[in-house]
Amino acid sequence: MSQLNRRDFIKIGATLPLLATAKSYAASPSSAKIVVIGGGYGGTIAAKYLKKLDPSLDVLLIEKEASYRSCPLSNEVLSGERTLDSLTFNYRGLSSHGIHIMQDEVIGIDPVKQLVHGLEGRHYRYDRLIVSPGVDYRWEMIEGYSAEIAATTYPHAWKAGAQTELLRKQLLAMRDGGTVLISAPPNPFRCPPGPYERAAQIAHYLKHHKPKSKILILDHKDAFSKQGLFTAGWSRFYGDMIEWVGGAAGGKIEALSLDDHQLVGEFDNYRGDVINIIPAQKAAPLAVKADLTDQSGWCPVDQRSFESTRHPNIYVIGDAAIAGAMPKSGYAANSQGKVCAAAIVAQLQGVELPEPSYVNTCYSLITPDYGISVAAVYQLHEGRIEAIKGAGGLSPPQADPRLRAREAQFAHGWFKNITTDMFG
Ligand SMILES: Cc1cc2nc3c(=O)[nH]c(=O)nc-3n(C[C@H](O)[C@H](O)[C@H](O)COP(=O)(O)OP(=O)(O)OC[C@H]3O[C@@H](n4cnc5c(N)ncnc54)[C@H](O)[C@@H]3O)c2cc1C
Repeated sequence: MSQLNRRDFIKIGATLPLLATAKSYAASPSSAKIVVIGGGYGGTIAAKYLKKLDPSLDVLLIEKEASYRSCPLSNEVLSGERTLDSLTFNYRGLSSHGIHIMQDEVIGIDPVKQLVHGLEGRHYRYDRLIVSPGVDYRWEMIEGYSAEIAATTYPHAWKAGAQTELLRKQLLAMRDGGTVLISAPPNPFRCPPGPYERAAQIAHYLKHHKPKSKILILDHKDAFSKQGLFTAGWSRFYGDMIEWVGGAAGGKIEALSLDDHQLVGEFDNYRGDVINIIPAQKAAPLAVKADLTDQSGWCPVDQRSFESTRHPNIYVIGDAAIAGAMPKSGYAANSQGKVCAAAIVAQLQGVELPEPSYVNTCYSLITPDYGISVAAVYQLHEGRIEAIKGAGGLSPPQADPRLRAREAQFAHGWFKNITTDMFG
């Protein structure tokens, strides 16, 4: 079993806990077998950094799809600024790090025998298992809405792919003067600023092609991420094209009326030419099936290591996990993947778990040249991940346009860096 050397540690970067500084690494008892389920923002990083921290580990990544489509920047597909192809990645780069890649759909986990079950009777033994399967939708919260209707008629487009393309086609086909309805979900959900960035990206397209149109955001909530920055950006570039209705004002949608293209709210009905319903969310089906979720629908974990509090030797990271104050974002999943990898290596090598630190920055694009952001650094406080006061914050409300242009560049630079970290 190899040692973590200083050069490897420096390469891993500042977001990893200070694993190597305090302890010298004893040789591991054996080449432990680590299985990672889910090749998205969390799983790719956990697999890669396990291998970086200890190259002798036997790491297997199981992903059901042949390639990965990134949700971050997929709102730009709706404005026509980007193609889905530019968001699509394969797993060849990860194989070159010595990670075994298996395309399979996991249908069950046996936590006692430490086995993962795939399709056609395939199974995989593990010493440690990391699960990063993403989210699923609470269809039942909007009467009349379903997976079938989302796939064919009223897309949620909350996983980048066919539904993103369908929503884009619907926007192209809409008449000038039409209304786009976006139903935004209750907390917690994947990408808190996402619905509001989506409104801006759709407005960017409409402003140039169908300027008489409107976008109405019907929200379950009474406040949302980066609200002041979004509303200032919307009115600066799109005038009164985007209107937001909060939950208490009637924005909570309860049903979809298919016959007359209407969303049924608590007080009013809303007719839309294009309807984008982003449903309430919960952990992905595999997490439920494997008994990793609690009554909240998400996975409770020890927030120092991300080990499940329900089953030992299984770790949950990314959107599916309950991670204190961290949002459900790709950057958060990346940070959690690194913390989790470091914790597993420390456990296998019999050293004390390091004090973790976690980071997140979420950029949002109001136009191609105008970006806003929110950033935070987190630490563990009494077992819960909490934001460190003064470490982070919103981009300034009265910023110079040059700073906003730089933030837009940072958003694209961030995407290039994080996807290279995942797939490079
Ligand atoms: C429109 C939009 C914009 C966003 N913008 C940003 C942004 O700008 N910045 C940001 O940080 N975040 C952003 N996000 C959020 C980000 O996409 C998620 O937080 C991130 O993808 C979570 O990573 P994950 O690993 O938990 O899940 P995912 O990335 O979804 O990965 C889960 C993987 O697991 C696989 N899987 C699931 N079940 C199984 C199974 N049973 N067997 C095998 N494989 C399985 C899936 O196929 C998938 O590849 C955005 C999201 C949306 C919807």
